[in-house]
Amino acid sequence: RPIEQLSTEAAQQEIAKLQDDLRQYGIAYYEQDAPIVEDYIYDAMYARLVALEAAFPQFVNPDSPTQNVGGAMTKSGLDKVVHPAPMLSLGDVFSLEELDEWDSRTTKSLGFQSDYNLELKIDGLAVALTYVSGKLVQASTRGNGTIGEDVTANVKMIKAIPQVLNEPITIEVRGEIYMPKSSFSTLNKQRELDGLAPFANPRNAAAGSLRQLNAKIMKQRNLSAFVYYTAEPDILGSTTQSDALKRFAALGLPTDTHNRVITKMSDINNYITEYTVARDNLAYGIDGVVVKVNRLDDQLDLGNTVKIPRWAIAYKFPPEEALTVVRAIEWTV
Ligand code: NAD
Repeated sequence: RPIEQLSTEAAQQEIAKLQDDLRQYGIAYYEQDAPIVEDYIYDAMYARLVALEAAFPQFVNPDSPTQNVGGAMTKSGLDKVVHPAPMLSLGDVFSLEELDEWDSRTTKSLGFQSDYNLELKIDGLAVALTYVSGKLVQASTRGNGTIGEDVTANVKMIKAIPQVLNEPITIEVRGEIYMPKSSFSTLNKQRELDGLAPFANPRNAAAGSLRQLNAKIMKQRNLSAFVYYTAEPDILGSTTQSDALKRFAALGLPTDTHNRVITKMSDINNYITEYTVARDNLAYGIDGVVVKVNRLDDQLDLGNTVKIPRWAIAYKFPPEEALTVVRAIEWTV
């Protein structure tokens, strides 16, 4: 039902039900690495909850999935790590109109039109890597954003992640661990032969591999990674996101080189069109495009909410199934 037609009581009930259902789906997805609904269903329910909570803010509570990053990690046998700065999620949009609205809000807050760095949204899970004097000493998952899980032993099995940087600096960097498409299909074929349930998708396979306790199993899983963030850009001497990516690469860290700087939001159209097609030929899964305010001091000015940065937004691709339907309709008309 349209939100403006809801009574306060009906809204309260719907909000409580959505919060409950999404919390359950979140536990299956983040803690058990075994989702029970498709992402696009989760996303649609989440978007409805965001809209309802905006219209009825008296029913927002601190336990709502809209106010929390990831899961509570009750089941994992891994040690806990407190993040020096919270690891956040990303706001997401599903249409160009919503991207324009985000651009208008950002331009208004900054007082000028920012350049944006466009990056592919890698379909994996976030990781923080701590290097001391150039040596990898700790790796942790995002967890609930404040406290993550120690996955150092497993991350040391990932060839793409250097154990020693090209410079002896002390820095925490963050990025995405993912399972390449080829590793995913090999793994699922093997699981089938072994009579085990296949993983639902490469993201869950990557998360399940990283969060299990046997580093030998991890080695066989052939995960990879891209680094895209540090909360300490001064250490790199970078003033823009696009430059930080270059500095990460110079340090020997894996970076995705498909990023592009644009000067106005409409320039994103070509990028989205290009990667909606090119994603099939990439060696790893992507589920959208991340738009980031390019200047790092502007990012700081915009700041974060409890859950997401205001200086970035994820444009999510339509789900593959929905895309197939849209294409089928296009072909028949
Ligand atoms: P998200 O995955 O939509 O976006 C935030 C994450 O994107 C970041 O934490 C980071 O790990 C990642 N990312 C990838 N490339 C990046 C880049 N270039 N720059 C910055 N970050 C990048 O958000 P989330 O909070 O991790 O999870 C929410 C999403 O997870 C939902 O939209 C839904 O699709 C899915 N989910 C599904 C279920 C389910 O039951 N199917 C349950 C919970 C969540």
